[in-house]
Amino acid sequence: EPIILGQAEHGIDLKLVSPNAIRLTQTLQEAGFKAFVVGGAVRDLLLGVKPKDFDIATDATPEQVKKLFRRAFIIGRRFQIVHVMFGQELLEVTTFRGKGSDNAPKDEHGRVLRDNSFGPQHEDAERRDFTINAMYYDPANQTVLDYHGGIADIREKTLRIIGMPEARYREDPIRMLRVVRFAAKLGFTIEPATRAPIPVMAPLIDNVPAARVFDEMLKLLLSGHALACLKELRSAGLHHGLLPLLDVVLEQPIGMKFVTLALESTDARVKAGKGVSPGFLFASLLWHQVLEKWTAYRAAGEAPIPALHLAADAVLDTQTDNLALQRRIATDMRDIWAMQPRFERRTGRAPYKLLENPRFRAGYDFLLLRCASGELDMEIGEWWTAFYEAEAGERERLVTQAN
Ligand code: ATP
Ligand code: MG
Repeated sequence: EPIILGQAEHGIDLKLVSPNAIRLTQTLQEAGFKAFVVGGAVRDLLLGVKPKDFDIATDATPEQVKKLFRRAFIIGRRFQIVHVMFGQELLEVTTFRGKGSDNAPKDEHGRVLRDNSFGPQHEDAERRDFTINAMYYDPANQTVLDYHGGIADIREKTLRIIGMPEARYREDPIRMLRVVRFAAKLGFTIEPATRAPIPVMAPLIDNVPAARVFDEMLKLLLSGHALACLKELRSAGLHHGLLPLLDVVLEQPIGMKFVTLALESTDARVKAGKGVSPGFLFASLLWHQVLEKWTAYRAAGEAPIPALHLAADAVLDTQTDNLALQRRIATDMRDIWAMQPRFERRTGRAPYKLLENPRFRAGYDFLLLRCASGELDMEIGEWWTAFYEAEAGERERLVTQAN
């Protein structure tokens, strides 16, 4: 049933395949099971990109997989997968899943709540999301099994959902966010039938548990193509009313310069392989809201610092429910915001104390964004850069000068 392609046809470079993935599939095959590299890794290999992680699909049950490896752990209660560790590398091994029966439990909007039956390989392929994510690679004989025309879609740079788009989005509305992320990240076009239902079905995302939406949002924002993703979200009709954070980002032109700069710098960091803190990112995305409320509290007579704390509380309150911002991230955001007024005090010991703050670097980077966006005078950012980089004696001079 699948199209089978040899090395000469698909051109995958075996050197891009993790040696551990090769070893793992080989061990399973020697024990008499089927085993393939699957999903995003095959897609990336076909595009000539080194995959960041390798997922393995097999017809062995989780118990059978576990027995074959020394460091193997069965994860998950309802649908078990196996984590196999080789040194630092973690490989995820999944048993082929069946299409799921028509009486799989669903919520009142048709979202599948549990879908945990094993099945034959062709059904495993059918329940994956996009054609380019439903291919299987066997490193042993270097063949690719293509069940849904994924190779052709890779060549045409097309994202196409498997099956009936409406039904697939209804089963799992997160697929609407995934298609946008892949389009932006890969520079692919969303095929018209895959794209058409999205604006109408977008509200279904409201019924997905907030933590899952948040995880997907984070993947989107940390993909290295956040700006492209946001443009794509807007053009797919996915920005309105379903993600409060994106409404803020996309619908308020006043905050836009700041957000654009923040996302550009995030994308650049990701592409350079540097870490990005989610706290910094979300602090940037919501700064415009904080600023508005901060101004309002001050106008009502609050002193600047208490006013800022009130504003931060108010903004975090509106976001934590629907976004499931993790507490750790919310704490980082509050720290970054709370530091901002302290950059305005450049006398006495105040600048030295701020410099010792363990979160100084994040607060300072944030200050520079505020300057670059035109919210603050460049002079203050330049002063802090000089102070930060200066020797002790030079610092004294800078503080005296500022007085
Ligand atoms: P990335 O590079 O972002 O990791 P990926 O394609 O590997 O991309 P994963 O979230 O790691 O994405 O998922 C692995 C595979 O599992 C996908 O390639 C796809 O085949 C399948 N999959 C993941 N999420 C879904 C979903 N919501 N619906 C159907 N299939 C999915
Ligand atoms: Mg993956």
